[in-house]
Formats: sequence, C-alpha cells, structure tokens
Amino acid sequence: MIPFNKPCVIGKEIDYIQEAIHHNRKLSGNGPFGEKCKAWLEEHLLCQKALLTPSCTHALEMAALLLNIKEGDEIIMPSYTFVSTANAFVLRGAHITFVDVDPTVMNIDPELIEDAITPRTKAIVVVHYAGVACDMEQIMEMAERHQLFVIEDAAQALLSTYKGKPLGTFGHFGTLSFHETKNYTCGEGGALLINDPKYVERAEILQEKGTNRSQFKRGQVDKYTWHDVGSSFLLSELNAAYLYAQLEEAWTIFEDRIETWNRYSEKLSSLVEEDLVSTQHIPEGCQHNAHMFYIKLRTESVRSDIISYLKEQDIMAVPHYEPLHSSQAGRVYGGLSGIDHFTTSEAERLLRLPLYFGMEKEVVNHVVHHIENFFKK
Ligand SMILES: *Cc1c(COP(=O)(O)O)cnc(C)c1O
Repeated sequence: MIPFNKPCVIGKEIDYIQEAIHHNRKLSGNGPFGEKCKAWLEEHLLCQKALLTPSCTHALEMAALLLNIKEGDEIIMPSYTFVSTANAFVLRGAHITFVDVDPTVMNIDPELIEDAITPRTKAIVVVHYAGVACDMEQIMEMAERHQLFVIEDAAQALLSTYKGKPLGTFGHFGTLSFHETKNYTCGEGGALLINDPKYVERAEILQEKGTNRSQFKRGQVDKYTWHDVGSSFLLSELNAAYLYAQLEEAWTIFEDRIETWNRYSEKLSSLVEEDLVSTQHIPEGCQHNAHMFYIKLRTESVRSDIISYLKEQDIMAVPHYEPLHSSQAGRVYGGLSGIDHFTTSEAERLLRLPLYFGMEKEVVNHVVHHIENFFKK
C-alpha cells in the first residue's frame, strides 16, 4: 500500500527522547529540548520570538487571546482552510467573514479582501496553502492602511519563503503545525511566532496558565503568581525532543521532499499538456517547501473515479478541505463576503497525491504510471 502520508522519522528522535528522560530529567514544557527548538526557529526564521504549543490550533487560539478578540469583532479569512483557522476566533465570539480563493494558488484572493472589511473588522488571517505564499506585500500594505492585524496560518509553510523572507514572519503572528501530516513533526505540536516584541511578555504569561512562571524560571522574579487569563499552551518536552531531531535535519527533509515534488511535476507534464490534469502554480517570488503535491481533475466525478481507481492499485490519494462557509458551523459563525466563484468548484476538483519524506523514486513513478493508466482506459 502506498499511503498518502508517513510521519517523518529522521534518525535521532529516540536518542533525544532518551536524553530527555534519563539525562535531562525534564519532561514538562520549555525544557532543554523545547529551548533548542525555539532557538532554532528564531535563528532560521528570524522572528522575534517563537513559543512551542501543543498544536497549531493552540497557537491560533493564543493569537486570538493576544489580540483581545471579542464578541462582535469580525475576522477575514479564506473559506478554503482547516476548521481551526476559524474556530480559534469563534471561541472568542468573533464573526468570520469568509473570502473566495485565487484558484491558481488556492490562497485567499487579496483583491477581494478590501470589500470584506467593515468598521468591525479586527484581523485578516491568511493561510499559505500547500506552503505557497500569499501575496504578503499586498496584504500587509492593505492591513496597514486599514489598521488591521494580520495572522499567518503557516501550518503547512515552515521553511517556505516569499521574496526571500520566511512565511510566518510577515504578520503580527505566525502559527506553525508539527502534526504528523506536516513536513516537520512530533506527532502533535505547533508554534506561535511573535513578530512584534510588545506581545512577547503577555504570550509567555498566557502560555503558563496566566502566571509569570517564565520570568520566575529565568530568575527575573522571586516568585510567580496569577497575572492574567491563560491556559496550558505548552508542548511536552518529549515531543520537543522528537521535534528537535527533525529541525536539526530540516534541510535534508526539505530537499528530499522537493525532489519528490519535482519528480511528480516533471512526470505529470504530458498529462498537463494534454489538458487532462492541471498541477500547482508557484508564483514568482515564492519558494515553497513541497508540503503537498496536488492535481486538479476536470470535474468532481473524474476525481471520484480516479480516487477509486488508485485505491484499487493500493495508492491513497485524497481530497482536501470542504469549504467552511457552507459547512454547518460556518453558516452559524460566519458568512461569505462576495461570491463563491472558485472555493467550492476548485475544492471539488483538487486531489492530493502521496508525498512523504523518504518516498522512493520508483514509488513516485508508480503513482504517476497509474494516473496515466487511468486516463488510457
Ligand atoms: C494542519 C493545519 C492546522 C492545524 O494544525 P494542528 O497542529 O493539527 O492544530 C491549521 N491550519 C492549517 C492550514 C493546517 O494545515
């Protein structure tokens, strides 16, 4: 069976977990491995501060808390995204204004954002789908003009860049995911990237159940007490140990995935020329991280036929998001601004192909071979 995903294992994960257990004797959050992961992220992404969280979902919830999002606030985001992008703000009572995607990249269409802004709008949440950047120059310029906050859901986008700058470092906050389906993983995990230093102190307090325990641990205060609202937004040191092994080898993982991505792209080019499928468009200035390789079929029914055909060949290819604006919760907690020109119709045609670290050339060739066979029959 060729799975859609295999969680990445790079080598030293077990050694580091054992080091945490037997040598460091430290298993809770922000231990030695957690500190190493944070330092790695700060150094490689050049963000002011990185905090490790139990998931990207939690990082988004922290961003909503840090911005004091409250009932009546409106948050703009694409409808084509994961539920957590919306839920984090719905939990604070906000109304979600969904916007259509640019079908060439499946990211929020920046041209449509301005029409969705009202006096109640507080923030724009952009999603870098498949690790391909949104047009951050245009979005940041617009956000500044309207004095809006920008959060980048960069769950899929670690080590992708836009005009050379890492994704997750343009907005006020960026959020990363280390879920097992992402390029760099620890099972469940995430990070909040803080790009404006004025939020760092409060973020550390929210993360530590509303206390100033982080300052206490650094010896800046002699006891810690309750300062603010908060929760337990910490990543276990066992997860951080696993994660650090992956971050140390991040470029090995990056290059391996890019190679697989390029192979798909090259091998599928004749089907693209015949107009049987279309493949991803990578805009000028975007360096992606090969998080995903998707194709689009001509219709939804061709897509279900090819999914069944590939399944018979033991190849798992999978659709992605159901648009949020038309979902049961999406209709209660939000609404679409403008017209659904592309979100639904493009989502119905999109199919993600197997892609994971260490995917052998022959396996990629095999998948492409069966896609070609499907169109021959
Ligand atoms: C994976 C993903 C999330 C959620 O990540 P978790 O770490 O599982 O909470 C959020 N947004 C996007 C765009 C994602 O791809």
